[in-house]
Amino acid sequence: MTGSAGTQRTGQCLCGAVRFRASLKNHSLGACHCSMCRRGTAGPFFTVDCDTSVEVEDETHLASYQSSAWGERRFCARCGTPLFWRMRDGSMDVVSAFALDDLSGMRFDHQVFIDEKPDFYSFAEETRTLTGAQIMDMVAAGPDPTQHPVQSSDQSPTEPPARD
Ligand SMILES: [Zn+2]
Ligand SMILES: [Zn+2]
Repeated sequence: MTGSAGTQRTGQCLCGAVRFRASLKNHSLGACHCSMCRRGTAGPFFTVDCDTSVEVEDETHLASYQSSAWGERRFCARCGTPLFWRMRDGSMDVVSAFALDDLSGMRFDHQVFIDEKPDFYSFAEETRTLTGAQIMDMVAAGPDPTQHPVQSSDQSPTEPPARD
């Protein structure tokens, strides 16, 4: 993590039962078009990468759903707001961008699982795009000791966040 990108942000679910703070890995904001994200969040899932920095104030109403072999989705059990996607091994958290209180300085710069995007919408912003197969290839390439292989970064245009 670079110092300039390590910005602390706060956020919460719709009802306020789950509040959190997290440190942004960078100012990249991405969208996942995969069918699971669309079903689970009622739209493309806009996320920011927060490494392992998510700190939930009170986990009483925080619920988890294991959506794949490696990932789980965390949400407020009271109001249903999707909040986080995390690697089950705890190595990475991505946070729902719209759960954050402050989106200043964020840049929408990548879209993943673009091949699963329905034809009836598309974003006008020019971003990097990756297919599901490209992401799976990156996951299969294995971990890099200095940088997680499946997260986006301001420096490297080839590293998208993982989803599902
Ligand atoms: Zn809530
Ligand atoms: Zn997804």
